[in-house]
Amino acid sequence: MEKEDLNTVHLAEMEREHAQIYKNWLILHYKITIGVVIFALLVECMMSLLFLNSDVISIPLGRYFFKYIIVPSGLNVICVFLESMALKMDFLSLDQKIYLVSLTFVFICFVIFCVHSALTSTYYIFTGAVMLTIIYANYRLTSITAFLSIISIVVSELVVKWDGDKPYVLDNMMLFGDFLVSIIVLFAFSAACMVVIRFERKKNKAILKKDMERYELRQSLQKDELTGIFNRKALQEALFNMETQESHKKWVLATVDIDHFKGINDNWGHSMGDQCLREFARILKENEGKYIPFRYGGDEFCLLFPDSVVEEAVALCHRIRKQIESVRFEEGPKIHLTASFGLAVYSSNMDATRLFVHSDHALYEAKKCRNAIFVYDETRMATKPMGR
Ligand code: GH3
Ligand code: MG
Repeated sequence: MEKEDLNTVHLAEMEREHAQIYKNWLILHYKITIGVVIFALLVECMMSLLFLNSDVISIPLGRYFFKYIIVPSGLNVICVFLESMALKMDFLSLDQKIYLVSLTFVFICFVIFCVHSALTSTYYIFTGAVMLTIIYANYRLTSITAFLSIISIVVSELVVKWDGDKPYVLDNMMLFGDFLVSIIVLFAFSAACMVVIRFERKKNKAILKKDMERYELRQSLQKDELTGIFNRKALQEALFNMETQESHKKWVLATVDIDHFKGINDNWGHSMGDQCLREFARILKENEGKYIPFRYGGDEFCLLFPDSVVEEAVALCHRIRKQIESVRFEEGPKIHLTASFGLAVYSSNMDATRLFVHSDHALYEAKKCRNAIFVYDETRMATKPMGR
């Protein structure tokens, strides 16, 4: 894979991780909504029990229950039910669900506030709705939540006449003062949330940059400079992963070595030798998909097949062997390039070192013929040629 492709894959992986964090927060956000609804209902019930026999309740009991318990709790339960349905809908995007839960929370605050706006402290319930959106680090979402919260206060104080017993805000200087202060506080709180989001986004950007740098550095440490394919270090890591995986996948390792490579260096010079190595790696990369190619060192390469049967690996090695045989260097010397292959199959009762020893043993046998493919047969502890 090219560097840009790898970076894109890594970025996509990180985006998936971020989306998972937002998903987890969304679930918690939803649970907090349920908690607020239950809490409001419990407080309401407790209040009604407390005031039941006092003269604080000036309206008939039936009307009291309808006004302070049944209507608000009913509306809130409907909201929670709609939220839970929306969270289950696969056709809604994560973003849509986040908006839905955040704005429903504002509506629930609006309901609680409408019922209790006589209590000054309920003005500040909306700060909770705004605060819970900070984690999403989305300016638009937080501004919309803040805007709707301010509108909710204005509407419930100036437009909705829910409580006939409550004095009108514009007729009472004290109430009007509370109303104005609550709007200013909510506005200032939302502005502070925006600043927090700005720094949160800056921090995330810096983390992302550092992570990408670390990732690129790790990639470069695992790449062979001359051929651009993975190096021995990457092979060791891949073999370690193979050992630690508990899957029952079949792994096949092919060790490939160029025949008489020293002769190419001696006869045509090291730069021609380098060109052969690059061409060799190009062919290996051209056929990759079922395997990952590595340059083990010098003129030795390894192909690791993470999920293949040996017959499939042998067939691919034959194809590669033929392609190598037909390599011609235009305007260059007539070099007849060939390679030998040694294959071994990994089974769960062995370690990577043994797999390597087996494939090396098969290569050693193949080298006796050259331009050949040999497979280590574990049952007979011997190698067998796979023809030319
Ligand atoms: P055989 O068929 O038995 O493999 O013979 P061979 O000549 O290929 O022998 P061997 O595999 O041991 O030779 C490897 C040679 O590869 C030795 C070394 O000089 C050369 N070599 C190792 N690294 C490089 C490199 O990066 N570039 C070049 N041009 N040559 C290299
Ligand atoms: Mg060689």
